[in-house]
Amino acid sequence: SSYGIHSLHECLQKVVFLTGPKVADLGLELAYIVDKSDTQVRIDMSKMVQVFVNIVNNALEAEAKSGNGTVTLKLSKEESRVVVEVRDMGMGIREQDMKQIFNPFFTTKADGTGLGLSISKKIVQDHGGDIEVSSSPGRGTTFFVFLPVVSG
Ligand code: ADP
Ligand code: MG
Repeated sequence: SSYGIHSLHECLQKVVFLTGPKVADLGLELAYIVDKSDTQVRIDMSKMVQVFVNIVNNALEAEAKSGNGTVTLKLSKEESRVVVEVRDMGMGIREQDMKQIFNPFFTTKADGTGLGLSISKKIVQDHGGDIEVSSSPGRGTTFFVFLPVVSG
């Protein structure tokens, strides 16, 4: 692995670029909102790009089925951690599925692998961070990724 100090803004710009073709194919929009761009974190850049591509892909797939056509990616900062939000207004996650979505091979998709979220959670935890999810069936889902800020 190769950890280094990077701005998470730079990471999310790569994610916007890499998901661009899928966004266009599905006729959706990815809105990237930057509250704070001075978000220095210690990350393995390619692994962290993979995390956000996975989460954004899920949000796009949910939006493609139902929603308002826009996935929102938001970067902000708290006292000691950087927060990335990925919000969609898709079908949401059923209460009984919530406990399983981070399990390897759990999928509700005909062609899903069920690996995206389990890999993403492990990568984020390896970075000293965490992933949380909030969802209302029929109304949408928001994933939150927290990473410790680099101080000094
Ligand atoms: P896959 O996308 O291959 O199914 P993931 O690990 O990425 O595997 O996701 C696991 C499951 O979590 C999905 O099949 C889906 O049921 C649920 N899920 C993840 N993100 C969303 C989302 N944004 N909206 C609705 N369901 C979601
Ligand atoms: Mg997925």
